[in-house]
Formats: sequence, structure tokens, C-alpha cells
Amino acid sequence: MMKRCTALSALVLLGSCASAFAQAPSAASRAATAQGAAGPAAGETLSQSYRGSQSSNWEYQKVAPFKVFDNLYYVGPGSVAAWLLTTTDGLILVDTAQEPLVDHVIDGIRKLGFDPKNIKYILLSHGHLDHFGGTGKVKALSGARVGTLEEDWRLIEAFYMNKGRGNRDPGMPFARDLVLKEGDTVTLGKTQLEVYHHPGHTPGSASFAFTVYDNGKPYRALLFGGPGQRNGVDGGTQFLDTIRRLRKEFGDLEVPIHVHSWLTTYPDPRGGTIFEPAQKLAQRKPGEPHPFVINAEWRRWLDVAEAGTIKYIEQEKAKAAKPQSN
Ligand SMILES: [Zn+2]
Repeated sequence: MMKRCTALSALVLLGSCASAFAQAPSAASRAATAQGAAGPAAGETLSQSYRGSQSSNWEYQKVAPFKVFDNLYYVGPGSVAAWLLTTTDGLILVDTAQEPLVDHVIDGIRKLGFDPKNIKYILLSHGHLDHFGGTGKVKALSGARVGTLEEDWRLIEAFYMNKGRGNRDPGMPFARDLVLKEGDTVTLGKTQLEVYHHPGHTPGSASFAFTVYDNGKPYRALLFGGPGQRNGVDGGTQFLDTIRRLRKEFGDLEVPIHVHSWLTTYPDPRGGTIFEPAQKLAQRKPGEPHPFVINAEWRRWLDVAEAGTIKYIEQEKAKAAKPQSN
């Protein structure tokens, strides 16, 4: 029995509508449906709820995995993306979420009909725990090689050196493997990913450019690894340079792929970058455009991000200029 998808119901997306293109309802979606009342708080979009009112609700986070393009699948929880790229010679996983949701990522890959042991590369967008915390577990399972940029390998290594601090589950540690740099190409089967260094969120945020296919039709995609500026004037200035580079080099981008559906720094006017277009995708009729092919919205987002980053740098400079009271 088909239910109608509406923007009002997170649980419908988790359940029947997501599964319409994920092939089978997952245990996770059944659990979420059984849970009943959880959903976005008043004024929240679905994507926002995963990083807002429901950020610690682990059952709610278990979004059923779904197909976005012929060769690209969403396997993350609600709060942070994990993207599975299929190739003629195995799988590439970009980001691995963090505990306690790593098994959900692994289960999602299986539910889509793929074998997680077939993951050949784990590529990390940047060195924050919500993106890399599941890497050790997925690597142990698959033997995949892990790649990220030098600067963020250092962040990851520093994190595991100091893992006694804080109360977040650090996941299974993993050692430095592939040190990527701008201009590198990661090749698996017939698939090639170009590596870019897009700092500002972290010093070594990585983006990956590749081709996605919609019923065989190719589109250029960029998985943008640094979702918003951090770290004061230096980070802000790096992020501004990155945004300006993106405008110049990827202004005509057809498919921006984000590492969070809800971008806390510069939210997407569609309400989210992943789940809201995924709802549209689930309802798409033959011949209609693909809801993830959105050049105009991408350029608008770059405008907002550029203006916001300029403001952020000014505020950070003003803060730095203030005499310290102690
Ligand atoms: Zn981050």
C-alpha cells in the first residue's frame, strides 16, 4: 500500500516514500514508524530536525537508505551524510558518520543490495568526528583504503591522541592511509574522482568531483566537503577564498552534493539539501527534471555564503581587536 509523501511527515519519508526508491522498507524505517510521534518541532524543516530537536534521538536518525542517481546512494543517518558511489570495480564510501550510528550506515549499504566488504575506498570530507567516527569500523570490515588531505589527517590523529577528553564515542581508531592532495585523481573501475582542497571549515576540507548518471544521462557533481566557515579570521578568510573559487571553477555545476542536509551556517532555502529534494525525487514522474540537478539554487547558495562569510570575517576582526578584560 502506498502512502502519500508530504513535507509534514518525517516518518513517511523514513518509511514508505524513501523505500519506494530504496526497494525495501528497512528495519530502521519500521522502528521509526513504530516510534510514532517524533517529528520536526514547530518551525523546523525535516532536515533541520535531524540536527535540531531530534539530534539525540537515535531511532529517528535512522533514515532508510535511498538511491539518488544511477551510481550514487545516500546511506547516512539524518544528521550527517554518508554517500555511496558504485563503480564497475567496487564501492567508494564518502564519510562514515559516527557511533552509535555506524551500524546503521553498514546495514543501509546491505539493504540497498551491496556488500560493505566491497568498499575499496573510504574518502573523508574533513576531520570532524561526525564524518570520520565510523571509519575504523568500516575499514576493519572491508579492508578499504582511507583517504583524506594531510591537514585533516593531522586533525584526526590529534583527536585519537586526546580521545580521553569529552564524552563522545570516538569509534575505532584508524591509521593514516592515503594522503590526498589537490589535483589527485582517485580511480576505481571506470570511475574517477578529482580531489580539491577547499579549506575554511577545517584546514584540509576536501571536495570530490565526479560524474553521476540519471537513467544513463551524465551530470557533473561536486561533493563539497566544507559546509561552513569556522575558526575566526583565518578560517573565515580561507572559506571566502574557497567560495570564490567555487564560483569561478564550479559556477556552472549541475549537481552539488552536500555533507549535511541541514547546513547550519547557510541553510538551503529548499529546507534542506538532501531530504527535501529526495521527497520530490520519490514522486518524480517520467520526463520530469531530477530534483538534485539545481545549478540556479547552487549559485544562489554561493551568493549567500559569500555575503555571510564577509560579515563573519568583519565580526571576527572586531572581536580580535577588542581589548581582553583579563
Ligand atoms: Zn565539520
